[in-house]
Amino acid sequence: MPMDNLWEKTAVSPPATKILASAQSTYDLVVIGAGFSGCSAAITARDLGASVAVFEAKTVGYGGSGRNVGLVNAGLWTPPDEIEATIGKREGTHLYECLSAAPDQVFSLIDRLNIECQARRNGTLHCAHATSGLSDLKNRMKQLRARGAPVELLDAHATSHRVGSERFKGALFDPRAGTIQPLSYVRGLAKEAMKAGADLFENAPVHHVKKTSSGWMVSVGDQVVFAKALLLATNAYLHGLTGLPAPQFTKVGYFQAATRPLEPTWQRSILQNKEGCWDTALVMSSFRMDGEGRLVIGGVGSLESLGRGAHLAWAQRKLALLFPQLAKEQLQEAWSGVICMTGDHIPKIQEIGAKGYALFGYSGRGIGPGTVFGATAAKALLTGDRQDLPVVPTKAHREHLTGLKQVYYEAGATLTHLTAARGP
Ligand SMILES: Cc1cc2nc3c(=O)[nH]c(=O)nc-3n(C[C@H](O)[C@H](O)[C@H](O)COP(=O)(O)OP(=O)(O)OC[C@H]3O[C@@H](n4cnc5c(N)ncnc54)[C@H](O)[C@@H]3O)c2cc1C
Repeated sequence: MPMDNLWEKTAVSPPATKILASAQSTYDLVVIGAGFSGCSAAITARDLGASVAVFEAKTVGYGGSGRNVGLVNAGLWTPPDEIEATIGKREGTHLYECLSAAPDQVFSLIDRLNIECQARRNGTLHCAHATSGLSDLKNRMKQLRARGAPVELLDAHATSHRVGSERFKGALFDPRAGTIQPLSYVRGLAKEAMKAGADLFENAPVHHVKKTSSGWMVSVGDQVVFAKALLLATNAYLHGLTGLPAPQFTKVGYFQAATRPLEPTWQRSILQNKEGCWDTALVMSSFRMDGEGRLVIGGVGSLESLGRGAHLAWAQRKLALLFPQLAKEQLQEAWSGVICMTGDHIPKIQEIGAKGYALFGYSGRGIGPGTVFGATAAKALLTGDRQDLPVVPTKAHREHLTGLKQVYYEAGATLTHLTAARGP
């Protein structure tokens, strides 16, 4: 199976970015990293009339933003009661409210800016892989309904009809959510930011930053630029940067593989409403249909690890297990990415100095959160108004044993994928 990212094959054209030599010497805001967070920040900065440069080490969407499943979820993976128990009632309620409205923000941005990214707001299905999963979904439904979310619990029969698979005990349907082609979305954001006057540079790794009395000195290639404010929007993909304490988090691999576009009869029987799906298993998996009718299946694990063979063989077996009619379909493309996980699964805004934030730790939910955190962080840095920030910025964030946890996640996923219980 080739190591190709399907999204690269089917995305809209990349933005025509600027050459580094054309960078101004000063900006109101410098953003490091051109994913959802960085590009959303740049759009907001321009909306506020500020000058902004985005420096991207590789290409727009190179990080998680161009590799993900494309589920535009409402809220975080962690249920709201747990969020409140972790960060307190007031902060937890505020974070939940900001992120449950995140799909509104993403889909209205897509509409307003006319971003071509196969956007479909048909909801998501969180599928119960076992009876224990169904209890988990009932608990989530109770918590979400108590906060006014229009979620609906489907029984096994209704789930089988919607998914086209008899493997699930039920599913929690969330109509607030939807799916996108993630690389097209981030490229669309980047193009819009540039159209609005942002300077965006690719193949421009920032290698050093330094706090000065009036702002920040940013070294990129052989250039030095000055910024009044700095936003580090590198999430799990931060590399090669000195001068700042590196944000602490655990890296978790997640991979996906795609079929060819399915026969029309199969497309009518599998996910006929094209909801994005994931399951309740501890080592979770996901599946969705892309704009051309390919089924994209994913699971925890990195294809750059020793577990690669186990992960890919599992995906092929899982496809047949869920949809026996696809047993002979060979997965065509496979790719993986890195999720930025914090110990409490809550995203962080870390103060890295006066007028400087690092955004990280979306813990597997970054389309809505990245869009919201990027925009609100840019506003807070440029205006001083922190009211819209989804979380209170922290001065420091410590994580323990991140290397060990990374090995644990990868080994656990490999072991799970090797066991016959996951196979047909
Ligand atoms: C496989 C996978 C599946 C996922 N599925 C979903 C999903 O279905 N739904 C969802 O909501 N979220 C999902 N996520 C999470 C989501 O993709 C991320 O949270 C989100 O993309 C983070 O966006 P970002 O802009 O903060 O960072 P990124 O998109 O990771 O961008 C960071 C950028 O910073 C650049 N960079 C790093 N260091 C430097 C430097 N020194 N100088 C300049 N640039 C630098 C990198 O090259 C990179 O492009 C998934 C993640 C993965 C990996």
